[in-house]
Amino acid sequence: MPDFQDSYDVVVIGGGPAGAATGALTAEAGHSTLILERSTVPRFHVGESLVPETYWSLKRLGLVEKLQQSAFPKKYSVQFFSEGMKPSAPFYFDEYKDCESSQTWQVWRDEFDRMLLEKAAENGATVTPKAQVLEVLFDSDRAVGVRFQVTDKAGNRTEHQASCKVVVDASGQSAFLASRLGLKSADPHLKMGTIWSYWKDARRDEGRDEGATLIMQTADKKSWFWFIPLQDNTTSIGCTGAMSYMFPKGCSPEETFERELDRCPAMKERLENATRDRDYLTTKDYSYYATQGAGPGWVMVGDAFGFIDPVYSTGVFLALKSGEFAADAIDAAIKADDLSAERLGEWQATHREGVMLFRKLVYAFYDPDFSFGSFLKANPQYRKNVTDMLIGDVFKPGVGDIFDAMGEVVPS
Ligand SMILES: Cc1cc2nc3c(=O)[nH]c(=O)nc-3n(C[C@H](O)[C@H](O)[C@H](O)COP(=O)(O)OP(=O)(O)OC[C@H]3O[C@@H](n4cnc5c(N)ncnc54)[C@H](O)[C@@H]3O)c2cc1C
Repeated sequence: MPDFQDSYDVVVIGGGPAGAATGALTAEAGHSTLILERSTVPRFHVGESLVPETYWSLKRLGLVEKLQQSAFPKKYSVQFFSEGMKPSAPFYFDEYKDCESSQTWQVWRDEFDRMLLEKAAENGATVTPKAQVLEVLFDSDRAVGVRFQVTDKAGNRTEHQASCKVVVDASGQSAFLASRLGLKSADPHLKMGTIWSYWKDARRDEGRDEGATLIMQTADKKSWFWFIPLQDNTTSIGCTGAMSYMFPKGCSPEETFERELDRCPAMKERLENATRDRDYLTTKDYSYYATQGAGPGWVMVGDAFGFIDPVYSTGVFLALKSGEFAADAIDAAIKADDLSAERLGEWQATHREGVMLFRKLVYAFYDPDFSFGSFLKANPQYRKNVTDMLIGDVFKPGVGDIFDAMGEVVPS
């Protein structure tokens, strides 16, 4: 167990991509940083498919070479299927932006997240697994530290307290601060649930398409499947739909999954000679945002700040990006001796604008009357906008112009 200091510049709750990126960069900037992760490291996590623009965060963190040398399958494209069987042409990322970032990876998250935490430790952060934050300590409305519990190898638990200048909430879907401060707002249009597992020997495409993410809508758009090829011939396959549809009373996850497979011949065919490797896993009601993302002495990043939907694989990208934004804001705030909400959250309006574009694209995907294929046929000038969003290139002007043309498909 590390010797904890009484005081740090930055304490990070959670060692997922958002917490690791924030902590790696605040440590690199010379701020004493403690990352507290309640699980073991590595730990299992859903969310294996990256989008190309993740590259730039990975580059800044000095991890591109490691990923290039890893066994993670390379992802060059995403392909959509409608009505359970009709494929669109694949979106090859380099057809739109032919540069070093146009290929990305499908990653086992335990390995990927561990790489990020190792980088944070290499940069000087103290990374502590099996350390659960129990409370953020406030002096009036200013966060001034945390109380946490560490479990050692023998299972003994000890409680600790550390003061700090900034608390970073990177606790993922637990949304530690948003839940406790009453800031969590569920997305009223996205009450979704997911059933997923991992298969050996699912049929993949070949060559360049071998690592492609496939997104297949079922017969009447009631649900959709992801197909994410991982190493060792394992494929992550999940099915998402409205919560009530995915988890009806008296129906097991397996029964629902099989029911939806029957409505998606293109996916069923890929599983003909495949063997499921694990039990089915489930998750639901994961789309929300925090109505306030920063306060005096605290700031939220990654899923703790908000999560939209898995369909476009944007979660890890947004986690890393928000980690970068927050680390820069924290560095500037500490140097200016101004730990106000405005200072720590100065990046969040820009971030929310980018997230809003993804959210609108998600709404369009779920709209039963909307078809991207037909829309782009009628409005080919917007193909570039869709591609920008699919690769994650949303933090620039003009990308959202497409939504003026889409009109009421997008709920306000
Ligand atoms: C069904 C589904 C499929 C998805 N598929 C994809 C995908 O293909 N691609 C993609 O990019 N994204 C995907 N995502 C989203 C992605 O998994 C998340 O956006 C991403 O993990 C967010 O990173 P994070 O660091 O914010 O949170 P996390 O990765 O969740 O990390 C948060 C960490 O905080 C720790 N923690 C929580 N509370 C405490 C506490 N009190 N004390 C200490 N530690 C704590 C947790 O143990 C956890 O390790 C998917 C999400 C879902 C629900």
